[in-house]
Amino acid sequence: MAKTLSAREIMEKLVSFPTVSSDTNLPLIDWVEEYLQGHGVKTQRHPHPEQPIKAALSAHTGPWEEGAVVLSGHTDVVPVEGQPWDSDPFTVVEKDGKYFGRGCCDMKGFDAIAIWAMVEAQQRGVKRPLQLALSYDEEVGCIGAIPLIEAMEPVLPKGSAVIVGEPSMMQAVTGHKGGQGYTVRVRGFEVHSSLLPTGVSAVLEAAKVIEWINRTNAANRNAAPDEVAAMFFPPYTTLHVGRIHGGTARNITAKDCWFDLEMRVVPGEDKKSWRNAFKAHVAEVQAAMQAIQPGSGIDLEPLFSVEALKPEENGEAEALVRAITGDNATHVVSYGTEAGFFQTKGYSAVVCGPGDIAQAHQPNEFSTVAQFDAGIAFMERLLTRLQEGR
Ligand SMILES: [Zn+2]
Repeated sequence: MAKTLSAREIMEKLVSFPTVSSDTNLPLIDWVEEYLQGHGVKTQRHPHPEQPIKAALSAHTGPWEEGAVVLSGHTDVVPVEGQPWDSDPFTVVEKDGKYFGRGCCDMKGFDAIAIWAMVEAQQRGVKRPLQLALSYDEEVGCIGAIPLIEAMEPVLPKGSAVIVGEPSMMQAVTGHKGGQGYTVRVRGFEVHSSLLPTGVSAVLEAAKVIEWINRTNAANRNAAPDEVAAMFFPPYTTLHVGRIHGGTARNITAKDCWFDLEMRVVPGEDKKSWRNAFKAHVAEVQAAMQAIQPGSGIDLEPLFSVEALKPEENGEAEALVRAITGDNATHVVSYGTEAGFFQTKGYSAVVCGPGDIAQAHQPNEFSTVAQFDAGIAFMERLLTRLQEGR
């Protein structure tokens, strides 16, 4: 049997793989697969449907039956380029009570603790199964979650309570907004600006679409929030344009203008109806453009889509995490996670993991040793419950 490692040693190993979202995660997946199999844990590899450089991994230990607790984490990390790091980002450095390294917080620290718990569960023997779900491409819009969940379904007994270990300071986070984003490409028609009515300015047309975004934000702000929305700041769906680019000269109607739109949708509101409302407005603007120049128009390129996590009533995952942590306060967060995808696929889901999201994606990213140890203590209590079959 392979040497059994501590959670910290596993984290050191995971951080050493530079699994930036654009690059391969296969060396990490290979290592985890071999480590778990070397300890008798059954694993399943789920290759990326299009990119052979990426794969997800699931694992199962305990009785081969439904109702597992599922520990969910992503294997990818954000880039380090251009960030002033004081140490090698891909080597864990312990200093001043903190573990520094890319992913120590988001979220290889949790991944390591989860892998450690899988082996512990296998060795101790558990009456309730424990599963692991490791995805790719979370940092580029939670793209890997749905393929992973769908790949697990036919090969594993369905789990019931999912713990997504994004950094939450080990608090039970039961809700977050969903979201979707688009690059909006406006195609105009160039003429000298003295002939304005015969051309189509992509910049001016983009402005009409953006004005709809401003009006929508104002209307959302003025509407009374429902009970779920009221838990969030701000307590309504927001639309945001983060980048815009267009035009070539002061006196030419712009041929091209593009901007990035992001919508953060409160749980309970339908992402699809927001998308449809936006598309309906775009269609109106486009019709007026095409009445002047038929070749002009507006195209939407999807950037990302994240499901909201809606606070569950009597949610199993929430109850489990609360029983273990003793945390009974209500927490919702403003960042998206894979928990919403599990929920839409019929799992009870909660976010709970070590570290503070404020440290995620930063240069000198860290998790405190205390948070990491709190994560291990959490797993110890979870293991005791699993051994007792609850
Ligand atoms: Zn993350």
